[in-house]
Amino acid sequence: MKVLICDAIAKDAVDGLKGLGIEVVENTSVEKEELAGIIANFDGVIIRSRTKIREDLIDIAAGSVKFIIRAGVGLDNIDVEYAREKGIEVINTPEASTNGVAELAVGHMLALLRHIPQATFSMKKGEWPKKKLKGNELGSCTVGIIGLGRIGMRTAELVKCFGAKIVGYDPYVDEVQGMNIKMVELEELLSSSDIVSLHLPHTDETHHLIGKEELGKMKESAYLVNCARGGVVDEDALYEALKNNNIKGAALDVFEEEPPKDLKLMELDDFICTPHLGAQAVESSNRVGEEVVKKVASKL
Ligand code: NAD
Repeated sequence: MKVLICDAIAKDAVDGLKGLGIEVVENTSVEKEELAGIIANFDGVIIRSRTKIREDLIDIAAGSVKFIIRAGVGLDNIDVEYAREKGIEVINTPEASTNGVAELAVGHMLALLRHIPQATFSMKKGEWPKKKLKGNELGSCTVGIIGLGRIGMRTAELVKCFGAKIVGYDPYVDEVQGMNIKMVELEELLSSSDIVSLHLPHTDETHHLIGKEELGKMKESAYLVNCARGGVVDEDALYEALKNNNIKGAALDVFEEEPPKDLKLMELDDFICTPHLGAQAVESSNRVGEEVVKKVASKL
């Protein structure tokens, strides 16, 4: 079997694949045109979020490529239904990065509440901004979680350890067993939360779910955290909301365009960000790698 790795995965996973006797080609900077020229030489393709596999590539791959493995959760960079119609199996590793993403979301909550990035920038300029940067405890907050799947639930568990109250909104989940989460409508979640944290997929239905109107319903003292997918938040509306002090601050790990170009949000002190780091923890990557090896082994 011959497998192409288009986006970097853990070295142990590459070794694990080779240990299975698979011919592995690593080309982790491959761009669309080059990929179109080589994809049909492989039985399987392994990608993360960088490589996009759309209908045109699937047409070329069909008949040769038997599976595409998305090392991670989101399948929005693959035309999944079309691939399946063309006989290509699409597989992901949904559990492996859950804890890493949830921990990053909580990290952003704490960074916003205690102004950690702003304190760092200020001290590096030689200032001592102790009096200016009084924050709030996470334990005193109501945290609104939108999307109560794997990552949303893990985030809720972690936030609970701090003593925070949790409200949830998910049109596909009526109640959450074993955890004290009050399920509410979106409007109530937005108006009652001190922190709104997003953990839902980006689909036609959820595109710009958080826009001008929704940001307008949030408290002026509230923070927004998005470690899910870029298109769920309208970045222009977020810029206006922060600039006009409609909300207090925001943290984004994911962007409408990655890497973002000329993002106006970068001008604002109350905006903090990370470059899609949710699953970028050694432990998450290792877990993803182990899952990838298991899934490829099952195809032998
Ligand atoms: P999941 O499928 O387990 O959970 C998603 C939840 O969102 C489900 O419960 C679903 O019912 C809910 N949902 C769907 N539409 C909704 C809507 N309109 N309003 C509210 N909720 C809605 O997925 P997951 O593994 O928990 O992943 C959640 C998100 O995190 C995905 O967008 C995924 O792509 C993203 N993610 C980001 C990173 C990162 O690096 N930042 C890494 C992994 C996953």
